[in-house]
Formats: sequence, structure tokens, C-alpha cells
Amino acid sequence: MFDLNDTHRQLQETAREFSDKILMPDADRYDAAEEFPQEKIEKLADLGFMGILIPEEHGGLGLDNRALTCALEEIHRGCASTGVTVSVHNSLLSNPLIHFGSEEQRRAYLPKLAAGEWLGAYAITEPNHGSDAAGIQATCRREGDKYILNGTKAWITNGTYANVVITFATLDASLGSKGICAFVLESTFPGFKVGKKERKLGIRASDTVQLIYEDLEVPVENLIGEEGQGFKIAMHTLDGGRIGIATQGVGIAQACLDCAADYTATAVRGGKPLIKSQAMQFEIANMATEIEAARLLTLQAAWRKDQGLSHTLEASKAKLFSSEVANRAARSTVQILGHDGVRRGYPAERLVRDAKITEIYEGSSEVQRLVISRNTLNDRAERSAGTPATSEAQ
Ligand SMILES: Cc1cc2nc3c(=O)[nH]c(=O)nc-3n(C[C@H](O)[C@H](O)[C@H](O)COP(=O)(O)OP(=O)(O)OC[C@H]3O[C@@H](n4cnc5c(N)ncnc54)[C@H](O)[C@@H]3O)c2cc1C
Repeated sequence: MFDLNDTHRQLQETAREFSDKILMPDADRYDAAEEFPQEKIEKLADLGFMGILIPEEHGGLGLDNRALTCALEEIHRGCASTGVTVSVHNSLLSNPLIHFGSEEQRRAYLPKLAAGEWLGAYAITEPNHGSDAAGIQATCRREGDKYILNGTKAWITNGTYANVVITFATLDASLGSKGICAFVLESTFPGFKVGKKERKLGIRASDTVQLIYEDLEVPVENLIGEEGQGFKIAMHTLDGGRIGIATQGVGIAQACLDCAADYTATAVRGGKPLIKSQAMQFEIANMATEIEAARLLTLQAAWRKDQGLSHTLEASKAKLFSSEVANRAARSTVQILGHDGVRRGYPAERLVRDAKITEIYEGSSEVQRLVISRNTLNDRAERSAGTPATSEAQ
């Protein structure tokens, strides 16, 4: 069972203060302008938040996944666009480099990532391959001391600003997942181009673009792991990323609860504060209960990852539940605020748009249900056959 120590709580407190004072006051403005929160990212880098998981020997804070979860919940509460920028950098870029990168790759990239000098992105999705990641069509072929990559990646968070990108391409699409290789790219490599910018329903201040590889030249030492290991690396990374998006769901839901509670405490209807209405009180009670359950599921998944225990199932459960809690909380908040709930420039309107995205990326809710049912049913089948359920070791 998970626990939190003093380091987790201190980091949470620092992030909470940053969120209240620096992120929240500007979140609606950045959203309306669809402006990348560069200035906020630089300030977060000064606090060490761009290198939470990166070992101290490479300049990071050297902390664990519970620390990342505690910090990210607060950042998402203040601004989910800033949150996803930081989450992708920590969970989807730094994390696989720490676990699967060679010593040379770690030395080359981690210090710059930890300092926030370089920003990271993770690019697997293609225009026709999102949920079906094993079917990606971007190709790689070895030529001497280089790999040559061709293809288009779509919906890539941080793509315009990323100096370094973990990406995936196939040696031969007919091999399916077994043909996929993982690479760490620099945006200055010849053949790397940033394509069209997406305009989105929510998390509008985050950057989302296509990346285009046209005979992109990647030195052989930038292959991560072995040829054909890319899909395993991608899926392992997404398990951690899903904890990150579960955290985003909790942060957005908490922002909704705060917004609804503040509003009902001050808004007077029929001569008395809204909060005196039992209907409002029950709505707040439902939200508070669901948020706590989502937070516990998310921390539990992070704790399992910290212990080196399997966490695919727990990360999926946390992501599915938290994202749905965020959406219920956001819809309730809009309803509770009435006309102020739908008014642009009020947080509720932004929160309901931001919440929706959590049900789509890093595995849609349908994909999470597939992962959860497959793992749950496999466990039962193994138990009834008298063999041990899933291994606890990774
Ligand atoms: C804002 C944003 C940021 C993103 N950032 C990144 C990023 O940084 N890097 C990256 O690589 N990708 C990123 N993505 C892509 C994201 O991961 C995909 O959108 C996601 O995996 C879903 O894929 P899709 O959008 O292609 O939907 P599709 O796969 O086309 O799915 C369409 C619908 O079909 C359902 N569906 C699909 N397959 C099944 C199935 N087998 N069973 C049941 N239902 C199914 C889905 O749940 C969905 O409802 C981002 C997406 C968004 C919206």
C-alpha cells in the first residue's frame, strides 16, 4: 500500500504555491490566446520540475513517481496546458531515456532536460494510427552509420519547441510490432520538420503539431535499445504516461471542486447562499468523494511503479477513472455556476474543455477498458488453471 513521505509533501507544497500564485491567474489568458506557456516552463525549470525523475548525477531531483504525481496534480490544477507540457517532458521523454537509454544517451541528454534547457516530446501517433500504435507506417532503414527515417507523426505535444524527441519507426510494416524501433532525435538533425499546428477543443495553450521526417538522418548511436524493441519501449513508457494523464484528471477535477465550492459559498440565490441548498451540498460531496478515489488510484499506480511492480493494469484503471471523474466534475461545475459556467474567461468553461482531452490521449477510455478487461480476465484464467496470476516483478 502506498505512502507519502516528507519529500513528497514538500514538493507538493511548492507546486501548490506555484500553481496558486503563478499558473492559475494566467491560465484563462494563455488558453484564450492559445499561447505556449514558455515563461511558466522556465520558472518551473528553476524549481527543478523539469527533471523530477532524472537522477541527481545527471542534474535532476532524482525523485520517484509519487513525487512526480504530487507535483503534477498541483500544476494541472493551476493550468492543464502547462501540466501536459511538463508531464510529457518528464514521463514520456526523460523516463524512457533513464530506463532504456545507453549511458552515452543519458549523458548527452539528461542534464539539458533536467535543467529545462532542452524540452522533450514523444512521437508515436500518425495520421491514421493512434490507438493502433503497432500499425505505424513511418519507416527506418540503416545506411552505414545512420538510420534514415521517413514518415509523418501527428498530434505531437511540445513538437514545435522540443529540442529532443523520442520517436518510433518500422523496419518493415509487415512485421507488425516486432519491426518497430525507438530513436532519440534532435530537432536539428537533417530532414526533421515541424508541420501543421493543431487548434484544439481544450488544453489550448499546449503545443500540438505534426512532425515530418523526410530522409531524416539519425546517427546509429541514437537507436534506443535494440532493433525491434521499440514497441516494448513505447508501451512501457505509456504505462508511466497514463499515470501522468490520470494525474491530470485529478488536478482538473480538483480545480472544478475548488471553483464550484468558492462559487456556491458567495453566490446568493433566492436570498441565501447557494451552498445552503442541499442539492449543491450533495453535488460537492459526490465530487469530493470521486476525486479522492481517483487520487488514491493514481498514487497507488505510481507507488507500484516506484516499487518495480507491474503497473499496466493499475495505470489503466487510474487513467480511465480519473479522466471520467474530471469530466463529471467539470460538467457539474458548469451546471452549478449556471450562466457563469458557460461564460468565456471563467475557469469552468476552460476546465470542461480541458477535461475532455483526458479521455482521448495516451490511450482512449475504450483502449483503457480493453487493457483492464484483458488483464483482469487473464488473471482469472490463470488462477482457475492453478498457475500464478500476473508476475509482480517487471
Ligand atoms: C491534445 C492531444 C495531444 C496528443 N499528444 C500526443 C503526443 O505527444 N504524442 C503522441 O504520439 N500522440 C499524441 N496524441 C495522440 C493520442 O495519443 C491519440 O489521439 C490517441 O491514442 C487516440 O488515437 P486516435 O486519436 O487516432 O483515435 P483512433 O485510434 O482513431 O480512435 C477513434 C475512436 O475509436 C476507438 N477505438 C479505437 N480502437 C479501438 C478498439 N480496438 N476497440 C474499441 N474502440 C476503439 C477510440 O477509443 C476512439 O473513440 C495526442 C492527442 C491529443 C488529442
